[in-house]
Amino acid sequence: MSFDYLACDHCDFSHPGIPMRYFRQEDGEIRIHAYPTGSVSFIGCVGFAPSEAVILNASGYVADWFCLDCKSTNRIPDVDEKRCRDCGSQRMTHLSTLENKSCPNCGTGTMNKKSSVIDF
Ligand SMILES: [Zn+2]
Ligand SMILES: [Zn+2]
Repeated sequence: MSFDYLACDHCDFSHPGIPMRYFRQEDGEIRIHAYPTGSVSFIGCVGFAPSEAVILNASGYVADWFCLDCKSTNRIPDVDEKRCRDCGSQRMTHLSTLENKSCPNCGTGTMNKKSSVIDF
């Protein structure tokens, strides 16, 4: 079993590049699909409660967005506003689109796809 992730060839910045799917259970709770364990609570995985838009949407994806201003990584659902929760900046870049692009962390290196082998 292996999965691909993106890593900078200059600094230690890296990103698994895999969006996580969220879904609404029969009881109405929004949960995150987690492989291979099943599902985990939205707040435990993402760090905040699902927004009204996420609850209405009922299923979609949460992806990692990188703030170009304070360099923090935010997990943001597809239907939510792409705004940094740390500094309020809207200069956010989607980490899974960074393959072969320059690293947003150091600005010097290039984000290359790598494979990681995991044993279950
Ligand atoms: Zn870098
Ligand atoms: Zn920020």
